[in-house]
Amino acid sequence: MIDSLPPLRDVIARHDLRARKALGQNFLLDLNLTARIARAAGDLTQSDVLEVGPGPGGLTRGLLAEGARHVLAIEKDPRCLPALAEIAAAHPGRLTVLQGDALKIDPLAHLNPPIKVVANLPYNVGTELLVRWLTPRDWPPFWESLTLMFQREVAERIVAKPGGKAYGRLALLAQWRCEARIVLTLPPSAFTPPPKVASAVVHLTALPAPRFPADAKVLERVVAAAFNQRRKMLRASLRGLDPQIEARLERLGIPPTARAEEIGLEAFCALARDLT
Ligand code: SAM
Repeated sequence: MIDSLPPLRDVIARHDLRARKALGQNFLLDLNLTARIARAAGDLTQSDVLEVGPGPGGLTRGLLAEGARHVLAIEKDPRCLPALAEIAAAHPGRLTVLQGDALKIDPLAHLNPPIKVVANLPYNVGTELLVRWLTPRDWPPFWESLTLMFQREVAERIVAKPGGKAYGRLALLAQWRCEARIVLTLPPSAFTPPPKVASAVVHLTALPAPRFPADAKVLERVVAAAFNQRRKMLRASLRGLDPQIEARLERLGIPPTARAEEIGLEAFCALARDLT
């Protein structure tokens, strides 16, 4: 028992929260598991937490039980609001719920630093939210860490190293300015209803500054060009950025015949600097 509220199965039955596929609803009902995910975010007692998609509130309860100073939860499905209101009543002043689309709501007015983001993300908007959080106008970003559930295949793309199919834009974007690791892998049976594939929780910590200097926009353009045609050699895939790309690559010590997935972060940053 992590709190004195009723079991989630009862909450879901009482509020008739049948999962809707269009909203990416796969709920976690095991509160020991949600508390474990909350613990993966580190000490929460001095932090505000942004949670996207609380649903019936399993992870929200885990976050509050683990001592989060304040939780701001953004949920699109109005059917979940009464269940979330019960959690808020059990933790006076510690839970604020906003109803709406997390892609459209600016949460910052409701949060005080330091801020951690913890979420079992709806699969349909998960990657878009991650890319937004990784590409703010200024660095360091508003958050100190992101602890996020994804489909395992997406989680593997975030932490991938050069040399494999999983390595690409997401890995470079994430690892340029964050420490990223998978902290937990879950089978479909951990969710109700079970999704088709396994899931994994990724923990990303924002570094104070990028690992290697580069202009974010130029780096993004180079990486996008290289991986949009990932089977081509760099001298072909990057020609659109510079007709003399072959000589430039040679000068930087990057083999022009290499393919994008063989090139590490440091070399991509060197190329971005050279093109700036
Ligand atoms: N956090 C709950 C849990 O772990 O059991 C629910 C996770 S479920 C995978 C995703 C949740 O995100 C659902 O409650 C869904 O209604 C909500 N959701 C989907 N799209 C959303 C959006 N654009 N903004 C906010 N919430 C959204």
